[in-house]
Amino acid sequence: MLLRIIFLGTSSAVPTARRGLTSIAVQRGSELLIFDAGEGMQRNFLQSGLGVNRSTRVFITHMHSDHVLGLLGFMQTLALNGRDMPLHIYGPEILREYMDVNTRLLNVNLTYDVHFKAVGEGVVMEEREYTVKACRAEHTIHSYSYVIEEHDRPGTFYPERALELGVPKGRLWHRLQHGEDVLIDGRVVRSSDVTGPKRRGRRIGISGDTRANSRLEEFFRGCDLLIFDSTFSDDEKGRAVETMHSTAREAAELAARAGVKTLVLTHFSARYDDVSMLVKEASMVHNHVIAAEDMMVIDVPYPSD
Ligand SMILES: [Zn+2]
Repeated sequence: MLLRIIFLGTSSAVPTARRGLTSIAVQRGSELLIFDAGEGMQRNFLQSGLGVNRSTRVFITHMHSDHVLGLLGFMQTLALNGRDMPLHIYGPEILREYMDVNTRLLNVNLTYDVHFKAVGEGVVMEEREYTVKACRAEHTIHSYSYVIEEHDRPGTFYPERALELGVPKGRLWHRLQHGEDVLIDGRVVRSSDVTGPKRRGRRIGISGDTRANSRLEEFFRGCDLLIFDSTFSDDEKGRAVETMHSTAREAAELAARAGVKTLVLTHFSARYDDVSMLVKEASMVHNHVIAAEDMMVIDVPYPSD
């Protein structure tokens, strides 16, 4: 199953010539999960070729304009391009009012239904194969971090064992493969008799705007990929504390303690034309650090352990 991250915007507060405002698309198979919708994000969305009419869910971390001002434009763009599937939106409760008021004042005509769900801590949504969870972040206003957590996958299926136990090839194999026990000639054959140990799914973390703290360290524990607020470099640590963001090094310290495999720095202050210094600082404490760029694509493989 494809699990792909596409960075639609990687700047904080103001866009630059090279970076749009925050938005991260996660494609899982044919489904799309979008985290934040900074102003103008629909241009890179269209550029990415993700398509306007697939299962799409938008998660907003907090109600600062650089994370949410693009939402209505995105919705309008989907409508003008003929979307007819419902759109699911998740975020702080006041996002509902923001959408209601603005769609009315701006006469935004949508061609599809919008379902809004207010986010609290814990499970935000659950699908058959994965769950999205939220945790309060530490920012100047009510903010959330999110994780996408794939459920364990069934272990490797051993057909020769199934045959030995008298299970003929076909429908019963399929059930055994998917974790079900089956009855054959009055005997129970257990899925665990013919499959290897369950295989761990993937875990992706998205911090939104936040200080790095121990609560988030727990929340992001074991992430295969973590995308974390890295607004500042070491020399602006004071600014990071004051504005309740993180430095690249703080992001890396959290990622290292949380056992994160790959750390992606993003949400860079517009003062950094070149973010290589931030990567350098983060790389002193974490061994796999990447700086996000607009339109950068990262595929996340299944863990090999
Ligand atoms: Zn921001």
